[in-house]
Amino acid sequence: MRTQIKLYDSYEGQMRPFVPLRGNDVSIYYCGPTVYNYVHLGNFRPTITFDLLTRFLREEGYEVRCVSNYTDIDDKIIRESQKEGKSEKDLSQFYIAAYEDSLSLLNVLPLFRHPKASEYIDKMVDFIDDLMKEGYAYRGEDDIYFAVSRIPEYGNLSKQKVEDLHAGKRIDVDPLKKDPLDFVLWKRTDDDGIKFDTKIGRGRPGWHTECVVMAHDVFQADMIDIHGGGFDLKFPHHENEIAQSMAHDHTRLANFWMHVGFLLTGGVKMSKSLGNSILAKDVLARYGGNAVRLFFYQSHYRAPVNYTEENLLQSQKTVERHLATYRRAKIQLALHALPEGSILEEPYERFLLALSDDLNVANALSVVDALVKETNQVLTHKDFASLPSLVRTLGRLLGVLGFLLPTVEVTPEDRARYQEYLEARERKDYARSDELRPLLMERGLL
Ligand code: AMP
Ligand code: ZN
Repeated sequence: MRTQIKLYDSYEGQMRPFVPLRGNDVSIYYCGPTVYNYVHLGNFRPTITFDLLTRFLREEGYEVRCVSNYTDIDDKIIRESQKEGKSEKDLSQFYIAAYEDSLSLLNVLPLFRHPKASEYIDKMVDFIDDLMKEGYAYRGEDDIYFAVSRIPEYGNLSKQKVEDLHAGKRIDVDPLKKDPLDFVLWKRTDDDGIKFDTKIGRGRPGWHTECVVMAHDVFQADMIDIHGGGFDLKFPHHENEIAQSMAHDHTRLANFWMHVGFLLTGGVKMSKSLGNSILAKDVLARYGGNAVRLFFYQSHYRAPVNYTEENLLQSQKTVERHLATYRRAKIQLALHALPEGSILEEPYERFLLALSDDLNVANALSVVDALVKETNQVLTHKDFASLPSLVRTLGRLLGVLGFLLPTVEVTPEDRARYQEYLEARERKDYARSDELRPLLMERGLL
């Protein structure tokens, strides 16, 4: 029987049972990086969270399509490309490639699509044009704005009242802007940055339009199951995405809104603009993808987590110990030609139940810890009857958590040599067993 899954929905501000909108299919979109330099470690927290969610939902039998975008049109990209004397395209391609190297080190599942904003200009223009025709958007002096006052639900996601938002706003320079809360859909410009000649004028789209259009288009749906990103995106980015979707399609764009807590350094949000970034590629080179995953898994995805070298080092040690046990057990299975075991129902169910509780990964990890402990005991006592099932279950759980598992290769020669080693010891022929030991060790079998 399927586990009843509960997820925290930021829009409703509570846990809700998760039921896909369309049968067995689940659509997930999470906001990806603006690709103008190497991303910091915090940028991978949403990535790892939604990769875990995808893996878990697939384990539960759902067909999951997970999508994340690249923001490759943005003022920061223009500034950086001008500084480096490159085109925006070359600059963003370079950093996309670097990002994808990190994705593979983290063992992130291939996404259904990885859309780039630059490939959706025509669709964004049509979308903005529709909003203008319906009276949700208007032209200011140069730019095109979204009329926030047309959306009674504005502020629902970020739990803010429109009056309070007004109080915090400065007066705008554009005299034709009707309301300080109105945001730019299309920036009309003749500057040196990347721009497009379109029916709504020469310029480029606003960030909030990029994501809503890509999310709609990739899934060909007015409403998707889950939309997510870091906490910082709740307002204004996601609030503004919802406002546009309300106007265009009368939906809040996603049935569930999920927001991931910040990675902090010294108690402060890790951020490119604050200059306290620790680059993901450096951390990955030093500790490996498995350690980074475990580091993030130490805290619930909605809670903040502090970066420290000690935490990373500890995570690395723990995950390596777990994987070493798994590897030793796999080797013993192969050397003794033991059959494949079946999944142990009790720990497996407990593990899924933990994840079904808004991805309670700490509880899921305690199931893994217990299995590792038991496997170690079996290995020590060499009573292998329960080993096949333990290995199968442990491998399955580690896989759902997205760890990259060690491969174990045991050839017929290895097996013969190992048998000979055991027999030599049995008959106390230590000269022969001493000869064989280094050969077996070299193959990683002892
Ligand atoms: P950006 O390139 O700044 O738009 O960020 C890409 C993704 O990383 C977004 O989902 C952000 O919310 C997320 N993000 C940025 N900084 C952090 C952080 N310190 N901790 C967790 N997520 C973050
Ligand atoms: Zn976005």
